[in-house]
Amino acid sequence: MRADIRWLTGEDGESGIVSRHSFSEGSRVAANWLKERFEEAGATCELRPFKMGFAPNVVCKYSASVDKTSTVLISGHYDSRGSFGSQRAPGGNDDGSGTIALLGIAHAIASTGIKFRSNVELIAFAGEEQGAYGSKAYAREMRAKDANITVMIQADMLGYHAPGEPPQLGLPSIGTPEVARLVSKMSAIYSPELSVGHTPVCCSDHQSFHMQGFPATHLFERAGPRKSQTHILFNVLTGV
Ligand SMILES: [Zn+2]
Repeated sequence: MRADIRWLTGEDGESGIVSRHSFSEGSRVAANWLKERFEEAGATCELRPFKMGFAPNVVCKYSASVDKTSTVLISGHYDSRGSFGSQRAPGGNDDGSGTIALLGIAHAIASTGIKFRSNVELIAFAGEEQGAYGSKAYAREMRAKDANITVMIQADMLGYHAPGEPPQLGLPSIGTPEVARLVSKMSAIYSPELSVGHTPVCCSDHQSFHMQGFPATHLFERAGPRKSQTHILFNVLTGV
């Protein structure tokens, strides 16, 4: 995962990626690279354009072994946006962390050889930073064909917690409470070290699905109020 995130952010100079802004060349390089990596891990992928000028969504699928009609969808967004006035947009945390976690899931699927009862889609969306355009287009498409998405979970920012704090899992207000509770219960079983709570952080690709009436939630790295960077820096400096 470390090697993958270094490649995606351009920290590994081999990738040549300076920015993953949805309009940049780097986002297209990233899309192709993600597609290849997911395919190496046994998924069937396609690049799906959704809006002129934007890099495409990377949609990867595993077919159901039993229930061919229902789909579980897990996603992140691979596009990024640099600080104002900066050409660089490495997006290691937002949302390189969610994107590489998705790829980690694909590697785990490949190494265990697990088969799924229902269809599973792993999607790296683009256009999130401009207003979730990639996921809006995909969710609209799923609604138009009356797709049976039983659960949709978006991973957006998983990679950080302040020094001295325990690892956390924040679940949002916007989304489906039942899905958030399901995730919380699964976390208690598989990742009991995580402090699970509510995050006031708003806005990611799960909302596009929630708006279309699909059960959806978002995983975030902090439970509780989101501290400002200044606050975090103050804590680090004062050892709080
Ligand atoms: Zn994000």
